[in-house]
Order: sequence, then C-alpha cells, then structure tokens
Amino acid sequence: MNEVTLLGLPFDAYSSFLRGPALAPPRIRQVFFSTFWNLSTEDGLDLGASAGWRDDGDLDLNGDPAAAYARIQPAITERLAAGSRTLCLGGDHSLAYPIVRAYAARYPDLTILQLDAHPDLYDELDGNRHSHACPFARIMEEGLARRLVQVGIRTLNPHQAAQAERFGAEIIAMRDWSPGLALDLRGPLYLSIDLDALDPAFAPGISHHEPGGFSTRELLGIIQAIDAPIVGADIVEYNPARDVRDMTAAVAAKVLKEVLGKMVGS
Ligand code: MN
Ligand code: MN
Repeated sequence: MNEVTLLGLPFDAYSSFLRGPALAPPRIRQVFFSTFWNLSTEDGLDLGASAGWRDDGDLDLNGDPAAAYARIQPAITERLAAGSRTLCLGGDHSLAYPIVRAYAARYPDLTILQLDAHPDLYDELDGNRHSHACPFARIMEEGLARRLVQVGIRTLNPHQAAQAERFGAEIIAMRDWSPGLALDLRGPLYLSIDLDALDPAFAPGISHHEPGGFSTRELLGIIQAIDAPIVGADIVEYNPARDVRDMTAAVAAKVLKEVLGKMVGS
C-alpha cells in the first residue's frame, strides 16, 4: 500500500458557532500548487517529481448535511480497497469520525495521533453527536482505535476530562509538552491535525482561537519526528473566512507538504 491520495472534504455543517472550513480545500491547493514555491519537502523529497501520490480533487459534499456526511466513509473505504492511503483536507474536524471508521475496518490496531487545542471528546454539542467537538468520543466509544494520543490540548474542561478518563485517551497537554518530547508511537498510525493546535499568532485563520499553542516550527518538528508508518491523515479546521492575507493557507499548505512527504517517503 504505497500510493497516497489527496482528497478534499469541503464540509463544515457540523461546526459550532462559525462556518468557513468548507472553503478550505481549494484555498490550500492554490498555495500548495503555486509557482511561488516548490514541492520539495525539508528532507529533500521532490513531491513534484514523485509518482507516489495523486490528487483526487474534492468529494462532492453539497446538499443535505447528513446525506453528505454519509458519503465520506465509503469514499475512504473505496480508496483503501484500491490500495491507497488517504490524506484528507477538511473541512471541520467532524470528518475524522467517518474517516477513522473506514480505517478501523482495515486496521484493528490503529493508533491515532491528534494534534489539537481541543480534545473533541464531548458526548454532544448543541444536541449534535456528530459535532466537530465530538468525533473522538464517537471513535473511542466504538473501539475504532487501540490508542488515542492527543497532543497540544489546552481546553480540557471537567466533562471532557471525564470522557478522556473513560476512553483511556493519552493527553499530552500543551503546558506539559516540550520540543523533542518522545511520543512513543507505533504503527499503523492515523494522524489528525487540527490547525488550531497552532498558536493563533501563526495560524489566525481558524474558527476558535486558543492562544498558547505550537509554533509552526514546533508542529513541523512533531510531524518530522514520527517514525511509525502513517496509514492515513487529515488536516482540518482551516477557515479562510477568518484568515489574514492567506497566511494560514500557506501554513496549511506547508503542513500538507511535510505530511504528504512523510507518507510518500515511508
Ligand atoms: Mn481544535
Ligand atoms: Mn479538533
């Protein structure tokens, strides 16, 4: 299973408070494929000359949100069955649940690394159990992952602390993290990157600003240090409607380049 498929999931119907992440995939691609930079990763892999990946464009997620949401899992399953690992561009973080459901059917011993300011472990939010605040509660309830490692967390309230305890989530809070901290990850690994893990000084184009997060350099360092095989990934929660001169689009595209390089090169 070597090929990596880039797939846009323009869906933000399950966001709380603000919409906008559905606009993200084309905006990230615009920077990613721009002639203003090149497609070489920091370890020297030229993605522009690599046959190890392809871009499938965006999944059609227009229309009724529930019907659109139901189209995500089969789209991932189909690509897995064809021997392709998927790197998804969100969209909001509610996407992680149907994606991981597809992965769990193939990888019963999945480890998830979630980089996020928020644990997204709410039982429900605003009456919606599929809210972007809930995907990792659904994933752990269904036993879809053997381990859930959450790094960068800085919004743990009592309800979500109880949920984390219940699910055995391994939380490395932002205040306890330091560069070079070994995460002890073993494969197969699913990598879920919520861009609000970054400090809003580096990534203002996200819906929920939570200061005190990673620098771009620190986030890239975590990605580059992963030595477990990455079988799938998502990069979610970029909100172009909140961005400042496309600076977060560039951060998202840079993160995409390093994650894609890591997947193609392993
Ligand atoms: Mn978040
Ligand atoms: Mn999240």
